[in-house]
Amino acid sequence: MIGATRGPGFRRVVALSGGVGGAKLVDGLAAVLPAEALTVVVNTGDDFVHWGLRICPDLDTVMYTLAGLAHPVQGWGLADESFAAFAMVERLGGPAWFRLGDHDLGVHLVRTQRLAAGAALSAVTAELCTSLGIGPRILPMCELPRATMLDTADGTLDFQEWLVRRRGAPAVNRVWSTGPSAACPAVLDAIADSDLIVIGPSNPYVSIDPILNLDGVRAALAAKPVVAVSPIVGGKAVKGPLAGMIEQLAGRAASPAAIAAHYRGLLAGLVIERGDEAPAGVASLPASTVMTTRDDRARLAADVLAFAEVVP
Ligand code: GDP
Repeated sequence: MIGATRGPGFRRVVALSGGVGGAKLVDGLAAVLPAEALTVVVNTGDDFVHWGLRICPDLDTVMYTLAGLAHPVQGWGLADESFAAFAMVERLGGPAWFRLGDHDLGVHLVRTQRLAAGAALSAVTAELCTSLGIGPRILPMCELPRATMLDTADGTLDFQEWLVRRRGAPAVNRVWSTGPSAACPAVLDAIADSDLIVIGPSNPYVSIDPILNLDGVRAALAAKPVVAVSPIVGGKAVKGPLAGMIEQLAGRAASPAAIAAHYRGLLAGLVIERGDEAPAGVASLPASTVMTTRDDRARLAADVLAFAEVVP
């Protein structure tokens, strides 16, 4: 059946994404697909309320990346940013562990105001994307807050407490979610209408599982070809705490095989870094998966789509 629904130049691709790694691949997909062919489903498990504002780090990273506004190196925030408001918060003794830039703040202000007026997160996200001139559709995984929680050696922490405030240091025993488990209805519709699902090289535990674990998502994906890109390269995460999490949560070394095992039963294929050992039991494509430039992103996206054409 797979062959019947796919063809050259997939007409409807759904990408599942977290922030840093996922956003870069999404940017590549946006470069090689027509805007109307791409829907991006973004993790909102990292969302939190800070300074009274609703902050959606992964949605913002994907949005800023597709708008060409993202900071090129740091993996969050905007390229041309100032921190005057943050400096004043610090001077006033306010919470200063999470840096928010002035332009970034403008997004959080508008989002918070629209949500307070009763708009759904998906509608607000669509408005922000239109204002920023973004073509592909970006969907939050769910409309209502659903926070990712981590049971760690230092107790239970929410995601930002763990990653930003504690710098991802406490060992993780379990990752879970709190809040309603309903997927955004548009997410289920987009998956049903798609002919290919791409899982970006995002952190499986804290970026992709929160999406997969929503009601109906795994069942919807079971009918679709799914290809993923490994976030583990040369035995390490390209950025962030994933390698340690694999050791702590899966009890094995970080590798493409560990990623394949994590997504077992879901994947038609896994794109891995050239030279890394191919996982058993799933088709794999060696490619250059480290995306340093925008050309790297587009080239990897093209490789992923070409691979998806031929995986069984
Ligand atoms: P987060 O929500 O900001 O943590 O972002 P993601 O979960 O989307 O991305 C984090 C993961 O992206 C990490 O595990 C990294 O190893 C991976 N990553 C970041 N950049 C790259 C890259 O250029 N290539 C690959 N293959 N993985 C990457």
